[in-house]
This record gives sequence, C-alpha cells and structure tokens, in this order.
Amino acid sequence: MLEASRLSRAFPGTDGSIAVLSEVSLSLRAGESAAIMGPSGSGKSTLLYALGALDPPTTGTVTLNGRNPYTLTETEQAAFRNRHIGFVFQDHALLPQCTVLENVLVPTLVARDRRSDACLARAHTLLDQVGLSHRLSHRPSQLSGGERQRVAIARALVQEPTLLLCDEPTGNLDQRNADAVADLLLALHRAQQTVLVVVTHSAALASRFTRQYLLREGHLHPHTPHLP
Ligand code: ADP
Ligand code: MG
Repeated sequence: MLEASRLSRAFPGTDGSIAVLSEVSLSLRAGESAAIMGPSGSGKSTLLYALGALDPPTTGTVTLNGRNPYTLTETEQAAFRNRHIGFVFQDHALLPQCTVLENVLVPTLVARDRRSDACLARAHTLLDQVGLSHRLSHRPSQLSGGERQRVAIARALVQEPTLLLCDEPTGNLDQRNADAVADLLLALHRAQQTVLVVVTHSAALASRFTRQYLLREGHLHPHTPHLP
C-alpha cells in the first residue's frame, strides 16, 4: 500500500523558493489505481518522482508497504526502488544497444537477489503478455513507438513491483497505439494487483482508473474528467 502524507515540494527560484506541491496526500491500496491530471507545469511529474523514491519532498512523508524510502541510505534507496517500484515514462527510455529481452532483464541484473532463470522466465511471460514474443532480439530502433512502450511496461513489471508509476505513458502515441498500451497497463495492473498511478492528459484514459485527481496550484483535488 502507498501512503503519501502532506507532501510539499519547493524549488529554488530567482525571487525565493517556488512551491510546486502543497500538502498533497494520497493513499492507495493494492489493486487501486489513480489518474493524475493537470495543466503543464502543475507538478505532476514532481509528484510522481516524490512517490517513486526518486526525489524527496521538502516536507511530508511517503511510505510504501509501511517503509519510508527517504529514511534509507542512497544505496538502500536505489535497491528499494529497483525491488518495489516500476516506472514508465512518456519516452520509453530503453537502452538502444540492448535487445528487447535484454532491456526487460536490466532491472533484474541490478538486484541479483532472485534466481536468474526465474527472472528470464518472467521476462518471457511479460513479453508474451505485451504481444512481443516475436521481437525478442530486436533493438528499440527497430520497433514502433507503441511496441517500445510495451517493452517499457514489461521492464517496469519484471521485478513484480508493489507500485507502478507512469508519466504520460501514451502521450507520444497515436490513438490506436495509445488505446492498446492503456488496455495492457490496466490488464497487467489487475492481474498483478499493483498500486498504479498514471499521469495523463486523456480524460478517456483517466476515467478507467479507480480514482481521478486534478493537480492545480499545488493541491490535489478529486476530479471527474469530462469525456468528449
Ligand atoms: P508537470 O509534470 O505537471 O508538467 P513538473 O512536475 O515537471 O510539471 O514541474 C512543475 C514545476 O516545477 C514547473 O514549474 C517546473 O519548472 C518546476 N521544476 C520541476 N523540476 C524542477 C527542478 N529540478 N528545479 C527547479 N524547478 C523545477
Ligand atoms: Mg510532467
């Protein structure tokens, strides 16, 4: 379970500090999903990084399964992220020199706390689930945008994370690929009972999550997206 309590984040600006998040609280159980909407620059990515143990809030606490990653040393924090949190960004961020299969296996190489044959089996299963079993030896440059994003999803899930964070995962895709990636994200989230938090500008996508929020002027509001 994810519990964010009164998160605030300020960045230094030219005339003093700029508050981006002001006392944002969010609590999600396994199997729950939240969409975060909001104008550009409203702090959606900042919130995701704070939830994902990538960037500490100025004040407030984040706990995942009862543990606060920001109380850990840097090395422990990296291991915690690797083991418990999956990320999918707008830009797939795959390693260009590695194959599809290798890209999915990267998180398992860092951890080394699980059997490599089990990791390999899991990577194969996930690539099958995202419909890319026939592309295992391809490089990212040989894939379409939608296919690359599906590899990124498989990579984010290979460590069986508690929390899956996606920052505009369909933002660079055409409608058909965006729908396919969204279907996949939600299906895998249901199957694995992760906590899922997705930043999106798509009202249609947002309406498919358990909860919808709007981030505006630093505050997180429950929000019902208007469908076209
Ligand atoms: P969103 O994802 O909603 O578009 P961001 O979270 O990326 O917004 O950014 C929110 C605000 O915080 C922006 O005004 C941005 O310029 C500022 N910001 C983000 N990261 C930094 C940083 N590392 N240093 C200074 N300002 C930042
Ligand atoms: Mg952003």
